[in-house]
Amino acid sequence: MSETRLQDTLTGELRPLVPLRDDRIGVYSCGPTVYGPAHIGNFRSFLFADLLVRHLRWRGHTVRWVMNITDVDDKIIRGAAAAGIGIEELANRYLEGFLADADALRMTRPDVLPRATEHIDDMAALIGTLLEREHAYRTDDGSIFFRISSWPAYGRLARLDPEQLRVGERVEADEYAKDDVRDFALWKGAKPGEPSWTTAIGEGRPGWHIECSAMSMAHLGTSFDIHTGGIDLIFPHHEDEIAQSEAATGQPFVNTWLHCAHLQSSGTKMAKSTGNIARPSELFEAGVSPRALRYALLAVHYRAGLNHSDESLAAAAAALSRLDALVAALATYREDRSDDQTLPVLLADAREAFGAALDDDLNISEALAATFDLLRDLNRRIEARSISTDDAARALELMRDLDQVLGVLPDPDEDLSPQLRSMLDERAAARAARDWAASDRLRDELLAQGIAVEDTRDGQRWRRLVEVRRG
Ligand SMILES: [Zn+2]
Repeated sequence: MSETRLQDTLTGELRPLVPLRDDRIGVYSCGPTVYGPAHIGNFRSFLFADLLVRHLRWRGHTVRWVMNITDVDDKIIRGAAAAGIGIEELANRYLEGFLADADALRMTRPDVLPRATEHIDDMAALIGTLLEREHAYRTDDGSIFFRISSWPAYGRLARLDPEQLRVGERVEADEYAKDDVRDFALWKGAKPGEPSWTTAIGEGRPGWHIECSAMSMAHLGTSFDIHTGGIDLIFPHHEDEIAQSEAATGQPFVNTWLHCAHLQSSGTKMAKSTGNIARPSELFEAGVSPRALRYALLAVHYRAGLNHSDESLAAAAAALSRLDALVAALATYREDRSDDQTLPVLLADAREAFGAALDDDLNISEALAATFDLLRDLNRRIEARSISTDDAARALELMRDLDQVLGVLPDPDEDLSPQLRSMLDERAAARAARDWAASDRLRDELLAQGIAVEDTRDGQRWRRLVEVRRG
């Protein structure tokens, strides 16, 4: 049993998360289609899933997190043809870029990153079952469509009237000679010049929607706990996933559906089609700290719209600077005195408030508010020298504990280059010798290298700057 409650898109209710199995919680996230670099709107959705997984693990659950890689679809085929390379080469190129960005943004590596092309037989088997059960039919060109009229529950997730669906898709209907304009492709019959696979249901390639049904069920079972994605995937992608999965298995597909709101830029949705996109690697090259970008993308509740701007990045960098300064202060704090008797309660209450906020449908704003309340209180106690050396260590331990979920603090094992380390030593020596000119010069040189030095009662303290723009 878990105290975590989540807002399920299908029922529209805030519901307690009751794991379906004793041994683990299964989470599936629609991953990238690797036909180009992912933009930060995509990463907002991936990082919200990361926050969810981190929180559930922090709460003591075992989580199996699966994120698919769509490595065959129309866009990849067009992109590969335009570049004069195979789809595998194109997909590998952008998968590598995706993983590099994800690592920079400290996204937990999903336990499984299945590729669609590795699961073609699973998809064919699922489609075979749908054909047998007469939820699907074949057209003259070898394509196979899901018959929406055979599935009365269709439209529940998106709250749509089935009769009104897909009227805008008539062009595709003509192209594939569907029985009903609403029906969607499970399988596309082989065409000259397109990649195809020989399977039990014929030669061709999968439609996009069936990929996620087959891969999620292959790795998490026919029914699993949580499915995440961007709000734009509710219809038709997730609606189609539910229909084809439940029609094939006769079992409920997903227990809880979670959808992340759009990332906006200059007031409009960030999307490749609108051209107002920002990519992580471009922002990093422009001097944006990956930690600041992670913070900016996480700091707003996943169901609320988030506007990406230089100001939001600057606010994230400022918040991180305060956290970094606290962590650096706690790490160097030395005071030989008795322990502060009120500190354990402060730390326990802060942890409680942080966890309770995230249990409430991942209320990150309140979790961060609890973190910064704690920060202010600890800063006051450091300033007043009212805590002991051991107290500081305990407080630092809690900050690191909360960061298991947030993933924004500097790496505790991070060390400086030998060159920077010796500059710091040199500066400490200069101060000891009261050579203020040398000490100031070294401070400026370190600052130019992104290291802020501060002189405190606990000695010289350093932290890395979290700047939005460098240079
Ligand atoms: Zn998907």
